[in-house]
Amino acid sequence: MFDLIIRGTTIYDGTGAPARTGDVAVNGDRIAAVGELACAGARETISAAGKALCPGFIDVHSHSDAYLLIEPSAPSKISQGVTTEIVGNCGASAAPRTPLTRLPSDWADKPYPAAWESVADYRALLEQVRPAVNVVMLAGHNRLRSDIMGYAARPATAAEVAEMCRLLEQAFDEGVHGLSSGLLYTPGCFSESGEVEALARVTARRGGIYTTHMRSEGARLLESLDETLALGRSTGVRLEVSHLKTSGRAHWGKLDAALERLRAARAEGLVVAADRYPYTAASTDLDVLLPEWASGDGRDAVLARLADPVQRARIREDILSGRAGDYWGMVQIASTHHPDNLRFQGRMLTEVAASLGLEPVDAALHLMATDTLHTSAFFFGMSEANLTRILAEPYVMIGSDASLRAPDGVLSRDHPHPRAYGTFPRFLRAAFDGRTVPVAGAIRKMTALPASHFGLKDRGRIAPGFFADLVVFDPAGVRDLATYEHPHRFAAGIEQVIVNGTLTYHDGSFTDTRAGRVL
Ligand SMILES: [Zn+2]
Repeated sequence: MFDLIIRGTTIYDGTGAPARTGDVAVNGDRIAAVGELACAGARETISAAGKALCPGFIDVHSHSDAYLLIEPSAPSKISQGVTTEIVGNCGASAAPRTPLTRLPSDWADKPYPAAWESVADYRALLEQVRPAVNVVMLAGHNRLRSDIMGYAARPATAAEVAEMCRLLEQAFDEGVHGLSSGLLYTPGCFSESGEVEALARVTARRGGIYTTHMRSEGARLLESLDETLALGRSTGVRLEVSHLKTSGRAHWGKLDAALERLRAARAEGLVVAADRYPYTAASTDLDVLLPEWASGDGRDAVLARLADPVQRARIREDILSGRAGDYWGMVQIASTHHPDNLRFQGRMLTEVAASLGLEPVDAALHLMATDTLHTSAFFFGMSEANLTRILAEPYVMIGSDASLRAPDGVLSRDHPHPRAYGTFPRFLRAAFDGRTVPVAGAIRKMTALPASHFGLKDRGRIAPGFFADLVVFDPAGVRDLATYEHPHRFAAGIEQVIVNGTLTYHDGSFTDTRAGRVL
């Protein structure tokens, strides 16, 4: 007698092997048997004829850290079939924190159950709220840096680097699986490669992974890839290039050279992979437009520069230089903060500018100043053809680059990128429709491949002894419904989601049982 049997379904085991028809039995939190189980009994049965079954998806590039404490049922993730999230990416983990660190703008001012500082504190809080998904933590370089030296716009001293390394060691002791960086963002952009190299060396010694949002994904994409790969060579750390892309039309032609570098590095023995979300718009804070000289020393300093007419004029000029006139037509305002700006959520920046009677660049500066740097935006700067080629690379896996959201409550009020709700079903749909790699290979990119690259033991495959993280879906109906205009929409066709043997999502509703673990 098994606890659960899923009967008569098409099984994709996660390895990329062709699907076969059969039954899968679960006992406790593990898969107990796979095959022809017609004579076996079970306390609970899911009849899944005509449906498909695969391992739960692993979102290798998540930003849910702090939001898991507010909405542990992780609705936007579970409803996509995500059963494990790797959090703390792009240098911006929720922990560790010291009083010198501010939470990123989208995490600030939210109703958390308690305050936290160390990774151990955050982990204890997370275990207390019982997340629906499994959580894998990374420590962010920007966090370690701001914990030690605030938002200072300068390279770190040797003593400061040593302090960051000590904090990272402690984070490993308390359960992180690796280090992330966000070298495009403040304050990581002020670091020199030696600083990150020291942290990567600690990471390699602790058997961790290093994920990186590189310094540039456009103008200096190839130099940034070289910096990343050099770090892998000098330290031996396992590498993950976050959201691999060629950003900006002028840089689309660099894809061949970028992929060649990655293939050559892998051929020489570097352990390097990458992730990507299946959309052509990026989403980030609008203030990434600011020149580097204007973005340091913390929010108050940046706002003071924007308030000073002379400095604002210089900022304006720097933003305009190197951007073609049609650039602004590719920017869509996402979340805003000031009550007067809420009407601009989801509108193109050019429309916002027209309604304010301003040039687009001035409208952008107006939003940054009035929203106190809490505006986010979608940037439509990527090529669909390059996206297809990137997703086809055998080492590229799927990451949403999103934090979890919910259609109601505190996490329903902003205007996220549709990838927050749609990433995994969207990629599955593309596979079934023949617009990307074949289905079994597409599922591998969301399951067994990330489990092996990130070192998640006994996850990401359907085989006896593996954890019962499972998704039943309708091959004909699975698709994303979230759009840039209406992002808070669950995907269709995800029928059952099981986390550690526990049915968590069933025919479009949540069972209110949360069985995720902090791994
Ligand atoms: Zn990033």
